[in-house]
Amino acid sequence: MPDLIPVANPGAQFRIHADEIRKAINSVLDGGYYILGPQVRAFEGEFASFCGARFCIGVASGTDALVLALLTAGIGYGDEVITVSHTAVATVAAIEQVGAVPVFADIDAVSRCMNPEAITSLISSRTKAIIPVHIFGQPADMPAIMALAAMHKLFVIEDCAQAHGAEIDGKRVGTFGHAATFSFYPTKNLGAIGDGGAVVTNSPEFADTCQALREYGWRERYISSICGLNSRLDEIQAAILRVKLPHLAAGNARRRHIAAAYRQALDESRIVPPSHIDGTLHAMHLFVVKCEEREDLARHLAGHGISTGRHYPLAVHQQPAYSGRIRGAESLPVTERLYERLLSLPLFPELTDTEIERVCTALKSWTGTRSQRII
Ligand SMILES: *Cc1c(COP(=O)(O)O)cnc(C)c1O
Repeated sequence: MPDLIPVANPGAQFRIHADEIRKAINSVLDGGYYILGPQVRAFEGEFASFCGARFCIGVASGTDALVLALLTAGIGYGDEVITVSHTAVATVAAIEQVGAVPVFADIDAVSRCMNPEAITSLISSRTKAIIPVHIFGQPADMPAIMALAAMHKLFVIEDCAQAHGAEIDGKRVGTFGHAATFSFYPTKNLGAIGDGGAVVTNSPEFADTCQALREYGWRERYISSICGLNSRLDEIQAAILRVKLPHLAAGNARRRHIAAAYRQALDESRIVPPSHIDGTLHAMHLFVVKCEEREDLARHLAGHGISTGRHYPLAVHQQPAYSGRIRGAESLPVTERLYERLLSLPLFPELTDTEIERVCTALKSWTGTRSQRII
């Protein structure tokens, strides 16, 4: 049996850049500055310009980035925030962490992102913000969401944790909303070797407040001008991210190349690949297919030494901690239909051509239980 192909492989990416990463870590160790120092400042500038945004604030994780963006926008106890149930639990956990109330909008069956048409009926007098998620790397319909937000005076935070470098009409995600958040969890398109995150914005006032909030509300050392918290990015992670950032665009292109190979292998198959949406550039964080017989497909691929994932085993409103208490959850037919059928295939830039071919061959040889019955 050949080696098992994993769904993601952050270790493979480390090995490619190992020398440069070790050098970067050593220079931080020798430099003696370990938290919010020159590496973080340099990374913030480089990542802001990668996104095409004016400001970037490095923080401790993608979840914290959401918490800080909400706090900076003045969203707190009792305020309602419309988001999706088809996301990492982090999105919803962050909303509840600031005392706000999540409300779920259904997704669009094609993009699998927030359906702008599902938003209006959920808006109440308490609604303050919308958090669309660019799930799996597919940009949400930001022009439509921003138009609705303007009409109802709502604050928009893009959750870009899975979409570093994705675009709408040639413009990178993270620059459409009033603010955007990123995660640098090791398996993300831009991954640290530990936790990390960032808030991105074009507003100088928002950036100033957010920067103060990430460190006890300090604008001046040891003087809390507002009540903040501690969520800092450390120098070692920033130095590692600075090694990897110049390779992000090429890594995303490689992800799209692999996705194109899978898509071709699935031509005329009963396995449905993610749809291409005109005008958008997919970051291909995950390649998630839809299949009526996903358990059988997962078993078939496992038999060929290919791992598969479930992103996620449950939608947020189906998780024990959230079920039965989130407004909007009673009517998410598109989300629920999708969840029974999703399966993630291996996708990371370091997959070799031989491994890609192995996945394609295995996909083509799957017949499913129904056709076997016919035979
Ligand atoms: C990973 C992720 C987060 C959370 O990021 P962490 O760095 O793990 O805290 C938030 N939202 C989405 C959509 C994610 O995929």
